[in-house]
Amino acid sequence: MHPERMLFTQSEWVPCPRCASDSVSRPMFTWWGGLLGPRIIPEVHCNACGHHYNGKTGGSNNKAIAIYLAVAFTGIVCLLALIVLTLLRLR
Ligand SMILES: [Zn+2]
Repeated sequence: MHPERMLFTQSEWVPCPRCASDSVSRPMFTWWGGLLGPRIIPEVHCNACGHHYNGKTGGSNNKAIAIYLAVAFTGIVCLLALIVLTLLRLR
């Protein structure tokens, strides 16, 4: 990768694949990933047509989002199981 380009990530997004606009913004919050998701997956939002896509490749994020949701769900289930086991052990 190019570490020196990390400082300029805001202008590194590829133009919108639907309308070719380069006016895109990074959402702070998404329905699928909350606050953390868009920091892990480079999801961007087109200001011109509202299209959501992968800001690095211009492709769809659906597969990455599905993986993210699966990992997040597994993590939550494991965390709950850990809490229940801890509570059971305390009694
Ligand atoms: Zn667009």
